Amino acid sequence: MPDGLKLGGGNGICQIGAMRNDIERVLIDEAVIEKRLDAMAVAIERDFPDGTLVVIILLKGALVFAADLLRRISRPLEIECLNVASYHGGTRSSGQVDFLDRHFPEVRGRHVLLLDDILDTGLTLHAVGARLREEGAAAVHAGVLLAKDKPRAVAVTVDYVGFEIGDEFVVGYGLDYQGKYRNLPFVGVLKAAAGSRSYIADPGRPFL
Ligand code: 5GP
Ligand code: MG
Repeated sequence: MPDGLKLGGGNGICQIGAMRNDIERVLIDEAVIEKRLDAMAVAIERDFPDGTLVVIILLKGALVFAADLLRRISRPLEIECLNVASYHGGTRSSGQVDFLDRHFPEVRGRHVLLLDDILDTGLTLHAVGARLREEGAAAVHAGVLLAKDKPRAVAVTVDYVGFEIGDEFVVGYGLDYQGKYRNLPFVGVLKAAAGSRSYIADPGRPFL
């Protein structure tokens, strides 16, 4: 077998190990996530009317969640992706959400399922939901893997929530800290030494 095909080969394992060392605590492990996704997929299949569903994945955070969730849904769907940056607090006007793509998916008259990794202030889902409605979507439903148990900056309705968590910064299963940890198969909390505490306090930094 050529080297590239060997499962769990050398370097990869060491690097995942190094990432795990930065984790203070695993919040939701892989098996629990998978079980929850089974139930979410059943609910989505049940709720959407017949016909092709348009799924919009907010990059990059919702990528892993969406890939695992959508493979559990056995009905026709189209996948679109959107890059948005939300700026929280401080130096930028609070609540600003920028659409970074040149093109916006065609959603007129379509039933849309919008997927994001985590619901925090609600600004991102609020802005993207409003834009989808402006673009003429027949219905917009939203799903997130995680929702923080805290007051939202704006009112948003989320139809599918994987897990409610406390108000703390998490990584893994698509969620990053400075671009890292997205490929951890679980959701966890970083050790203080890994730096995420200062990340939260940094106003005006875009969340992707
Ligand atoms: P909202 O607009 O609801 O405040 O925030 C949504 C975005 O903020 C998410 O898509 C995500 O990119 C980012 N975010 C919010 N909380 C966390 C967190 O605990 N960890 C990570 N990695 N990103 C977060
Ligand atoms: Mg995001």
